Amino acid sequence: MEPGLLDRLAQGPVICAEGYLFELERRGYLQAGAFVPEVVLEHPELVAQLHREFVHAGSDVVEAFTYYAHREKLRVIGKEEQLEDMNRGALAIAKEVADETGALFAGDICNTNVFVGDDASRKAVRAMFEEQVGWAVDAGVDFVIAETFSWGEEALIALDVVKATGLPAVVTLAIHQDPETREGWSPEDACAKLEDAGADVVGLNCIRGPGTMLPLLEMIRERVSGHVAALPVPYRTTDGQPSFQSLRDPHCDVIPGGRPFPTALDPFVCNRYELEDFARRAREIGVDYFGVCCGAGPHHIRAVAEGLGRTPPASRFSPDMSKHAFLGTHDRVPQEYKEYAEKL
Ligand SMILES: [Zn+2]
Repeated sequence: MEPGLLDRLAQGPVICAEGYLFELERRGYLQAGAFVPEVVLEHPELVAQLHREFVHAGSDVVEAFTYYAHREKLRVIGKEEQLEDMNRGALAIAKEVADETGALFAGDICNTNVFVGDDASRKAVRAMFEEQVGWAVDAGVDFVIAETFSWGEEALIALDVVKATGLPAVVTLAIHQDPETREGWSPEDACAKLEDAGADVVGLNCIRGPGTMLPLLEMIRERVSGHVAALPVPYRTTDGQPSFQSLRDPHCDVIPGGRPFPTALDPFVCNRYELEDFARRAREIGVDYFGVCCGAGPHHIRAVAEGLGRTPPASRFSPDMSKHAFLGTHDRVPQEYKEYAEKL
């Protein structure tokens, strides 16, 4: 038996790359707005390749690309009949890459966009989770990720469905501008409730960048006793604009609607050193499940891995500026070129 998620966490931090939607949208294989992973059925080879790139960069987990492959989203785009094929397809792709690389294989469920806190929506979201988790179990996942919940109660229902399978559960909340869930629970209270209800890993994903997620993680770490997850978006969010949806770009007046989210966030992207620094700081406060959410590229994942003291295969090509044509210190760089460096 290969070590599972909890065995690996007992040995040290685990990295789980996310951010498939944004990366495949940039590459032109799914649509911003709906954000449904249609690429799973249309170009499975591209999804497999992105999984491989993330593992190469340091991810310990291959997470099935079933984010927003749920019944409500498929209704929105009028393709509900593809629901099961899309889920089973995404799971098969992830399993293939997990098997070939030795990474853990995770199922994924997420915010349903129909939960409103009444009995009808409680029932509806439970049914949506049950069908997706059922397909994940059929595919043989090692654990299930339930992510991006802004309602604490919706996260608790997702957890309940995952726990019924006996598999480990990673549950992460999406905290928008106000530092609370939509029903008004503090992130640390919400995570404590999830831990008490049996979640193996609790924490935050998406929405907030490193700078505005870290303070919330400190409070969560103080409150809960188990594993804590941190998967920020790689954007420079601030106290005044703490979520990536709230960012505004004063240097650009050609963005449709004026809001950089989700397709004009380029000037706010964190560089790799900022992610490396985040990983180091979050590790210092006791976070032990890491990742980067919407906007992440493989270089961000490598930076997180290196921040945790690792050298994944991609570290073979981590920067070495000593070999640069002008800025380098290598003997082969002519003195005239080194001197010209100031004029670059
Ligand atoms: Zn995200």
